[in-house]
Amino acid sequence: MFFVMYVSAFLFHYWAARKFGYGFIWIILAVLLPFISTFFLAFKVLNDRKYINFPTLEEYMSVHPRSNAGMGIYCSQCGSNHIRSWGFSGPGDIRRLHSCAMCNIGLYRTGF
Ligand SMILES: [Zn+2]
Repeated sequence: MFFVMYVSAFLFHYWAARKFGYGFIWIILAVLLPFISTFFLAFKVLNDRKYINFPTLEEYMSVHPRSNAGMGIYCSQCGSNHIRSWGFSGPGDIRRLHSCAMCNIGLYRTGF
C-alpha cells in the first residue's frame, strides 16, 4: 500500500517537475497527500470491516449446524463440500476467507 503511494508520488513528482518546475511540486504534494492517505485509510478500514462481517468457523457452524455432519464442512446454500480458502487481500494474506467453489459465496473466515 505504501509502496503504491511512494511510486505514484515519485511519478507525479517527475511529471510536475518537468511541467511546472520544482517549486510547485511541494505545494501540490502538501495539499494532496492528506487526501490520498485519508482515501487509502478509509479503504483499508472499510475493507477490514468487510472481512470482520464474515462469521468465524465456530459462528458459521452454530448458525448452520447441518453444514458439519461429521464429514467436513458443507456449503449452507448448495450443500457442496468443495470449499476454497482465499487470502482476503491476496494469496499471502493470513486472513483466510473460505468460499464455496460451486456457488461462489463467502462462508466463513479463519485467522484473526
Ligand atoms: Zn455452495
